[in-house]
Amino acid sequence: MKAHDGMYIDGAWRPAGGRDVIEVVNPVEEQVIATVPAGTAEDVDAAVRAARAALPGWAATPPAERAAVLSALRDRLAARKDEIAETVTAELGSPLALSQAVHTALPIAVAGSYAELAATYAFEERLGNSTVHLEPVGVVGAITPWNYPLHQIVAKVAPALAAGCTIVLKPAEDTPLTARLFAAAVHEAGVPAGVFNLVTGLGPVAGQALAEHPGVDLVSFTGSTAVGRRIGATAGAAVKRTALELGGKSANVVLPGADLARAVNVGVANVMSNSGQTCSAWTRMLVHRDRYDEAVALAAAAAEKYADRIGPLVSARQRDRVRGYIEKGLAEGARLAAGGPESPRERGYYVSPTVLADVTPGMTVAQEEIFGPVLCVLAYEDEEDALRIANGTVYGLAGAVWAAEESEAVAFARRMETGQVDINGGRFNPLAPFGGYKQSGVGRELGPHGLTEYLQTKSLQF
Ligand code: NAD
Repeated sequence: MKAHDGMYIDGAWRPAGGRDVIEVVNPVEEQVIATVPAGTAEDVDAAVRAARAALPGWAATPPAERAAVLSALRDRLAARKDEIAETVTAELGSPLALSQAVHTALPIAVAGSYAELAATYAFEERLGNSTVHLEPVGVVGAITPWNYPLHQIVAKVAPALAAGCTIVLKPAEDTPLTARLFAAAVHEAGVPAGVFNLVTGLGPVAGQALAEHPGVDLVSFTGSTAVGRRIGATAGAAVKRTALELGGKSANVVLPGADLARAVNVGVANVMSNSGQTCSAWTRMLVHRDRYDEAVALAAAAAEKYADRIGPLVSARQRDRVRGYIEKGLAEGARLAAGGPESPRERGYYVSPTVLADVTPGMTVAQEEIFGPVLCVLAYEDEEDALRIANGTVYGLAGAVWAAEESEAVAFARRMETGQVDINGGRFNPLAPFGGYKQSGVGRELGPHGLTEYLQTKSLQF
């Protein structure tokens, strides 16, 4: 057990204002592995002051120099990749291979993409007799969740740095150790003092203090819709900008002519990855009535292969929540095709890879985000019915369409009310904008669209 001290504020690790700590628990062993300080409103205030003081200097730093710092940050993260992967595994519980291939490699790629964008982006343009200048929004309050501990941080901090903003980060209480490693990499990369600051702490204390701080110009939040709604309301009252990445209930639509086995296998892999703790996961599989039984059998067989492969959920709370949803699904008439609510192991916050069949669109499990290794399979009658079901939730974050012809899948995808759709499997693109329609959020992350969230425009007329 390691007791970590301090918050990273104004370029140095300084003692926290209060004495309270947060215990970090390993979800496999159910044991406390470390503690970090639980920041207070005073810590947040000190961090925001440091960020504000550093803003004029960083905003005036030429983009090419900001790009060089981002490039150094990418390199420092790469140099620490083994330590990062082990830390994510320790506090999130994900298998080491996943921590290496996804939790570490992906954010390093994203940091690299922003180093390139900062160097090449047109921060100034000419429109008729005007010049338009894209200037940093100011001080960013970044609040991140635990499901992809480093990726969620990099997806906010890298574009903010590229834009010339300064930042205060409040990471999730379940995964603060990865955030501390990130701060160490920031320091090594030569990011000037005050440009990036880290305050670990509880959401309703440090998170809320950050979201409400008058010295913060933009709150960028990823997490639950409930908290996002509150942050949006508070920011709205203060006429403050927000970027909100919230929940999802994404549809994986298998059109009649598609390769069913491939669509189901990739679809199950998508849901089981990271034990289902992915906001963009394709948690509702939509299959034509004629091939429904075949799809359920394929999905059940595929899910069972993940029983020994997936990690636990992040916490006992999340495990209990997910089990509760499985029970609720069964109580509302769904049929268990694989897995179930019982604990598969004596120790660790595990939930079995679960497939719920005979799910109908109105059921709770078809409407609410479960955030666990649970796939719901729904039958549709025709394409219009599939579209109605796909669009029939309050969410709209991601999705997938499979069809014999790519053009058919694209035509369907264009009618989906969702921010990102994978066509016949798709492939991750760090430049593609990611974010929600409807209650899945406001704003976009990644690539040039993610960068514009951190910029405001000024026009000069001649
Ligand atoms: P959460 O919204 O409670 O926490 C996310 C972040 O917000 C954390 O850093 C937390 O400390 C902070 N926070 C909490 N209360 C706050 C407040 N009042 N003011 C300011 N910040 C606050 O989410 P969670 O409890 O970690 O997870 C709950 C659910 O959220 C999940 O089951 C899932 O549905 C959803 N979720 C979505 C994503 C996503 O990427 N969209 C990621 C994680 C969780």
